[in-house]
Amino acid sequence: MRENDPLAAFWMPFTANRAYKAHPRQLAAAKDMHYWDSAGNRILDGTSGLWCSNAGHCRAPIVEAIAKTAATMDFGPTFQLSHPLAFELASRVAELMPEGLDRIFFTNSGSESVDTALKIALAVQRSRGQSTRTRLIGRERGYHGTGFGGISVGGIVNNRRWWQGLPGVDHLPHTHDLARNAFSKGFPQHGAELADDLERLVALHGAETIAAVIVEPMAGSTGVLIPPVGYLQRLRDICTKHGIILIFDEVITAYGRVGGATASGTWGVTPDIITMAKGLTNAAVPMGAVAVSRTIHDDVVNNAADGIELFHGYTYSGHPLASAAGIATLDLYAQEGLFDKADELGAYWADAAHSLRGKPHIIDIRTIGLVAGIELEPRPGAPTKRATELFHACFDNGLLVRATGDIIALSPPLILDKSHIDEMFGKIGELLEGID
Ligand code: PMP
Repeated sequence: MRENDPLAAFWMPFTANRAYKAHPRQLAAAKDMHYWDSAGNRILDGTSGLWCSNAGHCRAPIVEAIAKTAATMDFGPTFQLSHPLAFELASRVAELMPEGLDRIFFTNSGSESVDTALKIALAVQRSRGQSTRTRLIGRERGYHGTGFGGISVGGIVNNRRWWQGLPGVDHLPHTHDLARNAFSKGFPQHGAELADDLERLVALHGAETIAAVIVEPMAGSTGVLIPPVGYLQRLRDICTKHGIILIFDEVITAYGRVGGATASGTWGVTPDIITMAKGLTNAAVPMGAVAVSRTIHDDVVNNAADGIELFHGYTYSGHPLASAAGIATLDLYAQEGLFDKADELGAYWADAAHSLRGKPHIIDIRTIGLVAGIELEPRPGAPTKRATELFHACFDNGLLVRATGDIIALSPPLILDKSHIDEMFGKIGELLEGID
């Protein structure tokens, strides 16, 4: 029986359902830098949707590639068969990865990419005769999606309280340090030594028990936490020394967000495995992928007995529509030079963001590439309310931002120009004046 309330049936993800349904805001259309809500109001997209539509919305070549493929072959299994588009996209992704990370496993989301990467890390340790290496290490305030592997290595307190997570997981400290690093542009100066906590965990458990470490090169979802200068290299060195697989979760940072195809490539620190999703298909069709070093791939595949070498996969791994969208997206990124945008506009972006310093409630502003995090002082007794109110005020005034805790995050489509930057930070500055 159909209910009268058209909003009742959809149990919305990561949403305060009761509050939302009391004051629903719905997106109805999108093009390039903008959304339109169901009343026809235009909204500047300051977040590329959810850090994902990096080339802007409804781009014609991507739409056409999806439509053509939908009409030619809507679906084809990649278990024991496969189709040319999946192979082509894998080769294209491999070309964009740092040297050596040229074996690509397809998934449908960031969460699946993370769980896939963790499994591959366990598999390669076992195939190297290191089957005691089962311990996984993440980081406080890390976000690695919502699979059981991802919530376990992730450092979001609610995830761990609610769902427990896997045993045998440890967390490095996060690197967020307002006392030493507030209002940094680019990499904060202080905190590289926090990577040394990994040596403490090695001493505590023994390297022979540790399979992998996973970190976001820049933590986006938990509030734009940018790694201190030298931190990632230090993690890399410790992992190499102890035979630990290093995974960078680049679900947000891949495909231009901080310049280049990956943060790893741009920042010159190469992990063993990179997870990605979001920008891979410009979010037009869900897809994720895991780029694995050739050595890891070969160790798993060549050391296996006859038959399936990695007992893992998804019905939709390498889905034709997603593969077509991915190929068209990578073409578009290249044609429009979108991986250069963070360099071209980064200084203007950072200056505009930091010009908000001194506005009400702001206790930190951090920027890198085309990302900004604006941290508000929590309202006494009502943490997160200020950011939520600002998020609503922005939306109602034609700007989409992302509120996470007391932080407002911005990650616009890479097709933006300076006028969009002025509009974003101008509006946030004005609207902050109206927040208690
Ligand atoms: N890893 C990181 C670093 C992310 O930022 C996200 C999502 N924001 C995920 C994993 C999960 O991706 P998804 O929501 O596509 O499962």
